Amino acid sequence: MKYLLSYWLLALAFCATSYAQVQSHCGTELPETARQQLRYARQQYALQPKGQEPTRYIPIKLHIVGTDTGAGYFDAIEAYRLICELNEDYIPVGFHFYLAGDLHYIDNSSYYIHDFGIGEEMMAENNVDGVINVYIVQDPAGTCGYFTWGGDAVAINKSCAGEGSTTLAHELGHYFFLPHTFSGWEGAFEGATLVDEPPANEQERVNGSNCANTADEFCDTPADYLSYRWDCPYNGNLSDPTGAAIDPDETLYMSYSADECQGRFSNEQIDAMHATLNEFRDYLIQPQPNTEQPYNTYLYYPPNGTLVIDPDHVLFSWRPVVNADRYLLLVTPNGTGERVEIYTTDTFYVANLSANTNYTMKLLPLSSGNTL
Ligand SMILES: [Zn+2]
Repeated sequence: MKYLLSYWLLALAFCATSYAQVQSHCGTELPETARQQLRYARQQYALQPKGQEPTRYIPIKLHIVGTDTGAGYFDAIEAYRLICELNEDYIPVGFHFYLAGDLHYIDNSSYYIHDFGIGEEMMAENNVDGVINVYIVQDPAGTCGYFTWGGDAVAINKSCAGEGSTTLAHELGHYFFLPHTFSGWEGAFEGATLVDEPPANEQERVNGSNCANTADEFCDTPADYLSYRWDCPYNGNLSDPTGAAIDPDETLYMSYSADECQGRFSNEQIDAMHATLNEFRDYLIQPQPNTEQPYNTYLYYPPNGTLVIDPDHVLFSWRPVVNADRYLLLVTPNGTGERVEIYTTDTFYVANLSANTNYTMKLLPLSSGNTL
């Protein structure tokens, strides 16, 4: 019985960007309560002296949902990459998200592919107090993702959580009570065909004359009627009730433009998120976590190239790493692509491996605050 072990030395290095696939749309429906609370929070915020907000450190609990048999998890290494990208998106906002404790794995097929009602059950059962709860599943009610007021959590489709996807940035906008830029036009289209539209007096004018009390009620987000996924720039011919052609801003995360078009929140949206955080979600504000990058590490046992004798009891061991609070051990039978992830706070792991197989190991030290 022979097991050829080899491994690479890696530091934590994520946060690459690229483009994602076009997604189906978001399933968030903010209730009138959210709109009222946002109005109130913005009024309170406007009364406060203006100054640079400090960076806000906000914990996120990631719930990784698989089937009843534990299949289909979103990769742990991808979960870190997702939070890194989220933090890049939120740099101008001044929010720095970090992982609250371990990834939480849930084995439940009816949560893995769920409808809105079951999704809220999942949240009621698993939400952790004092953090933002995000569930990564196979199919969240047929959408790329949603925030639900009743569940007070976000569900994300794992296929909409790849590199360059802006779904999580968008849904967390809803979590801080931001409406869509096209608010009021939800359901107005079948595909890109207009089938129904809000009353003319509720349609935001292109000239901004009613921007403060229509649609998202922000005046630095232009009139946007597009409640379907659209590629930028907008080439359609929709116009407002005065006949002025709309020119929606595809760079805004809260629009439905394609992910690769998006890259910002407007200043009023940023102020609104701070207002919501201060007024209704101040329990999320935490001291700065350790954001230092962990040092490199390596497996010291078994040594590289070892031929292991007992396949049922293979001990992996590594030195503790400064600034690391957990470790990700990736064990891959060569040539199979069936990577196994072991996610642990220990500095050892005992594996049960297959006989007559060569394995490659990767060990990553992780720091839950080092997600930028
Ligand atoms: Zn949305």
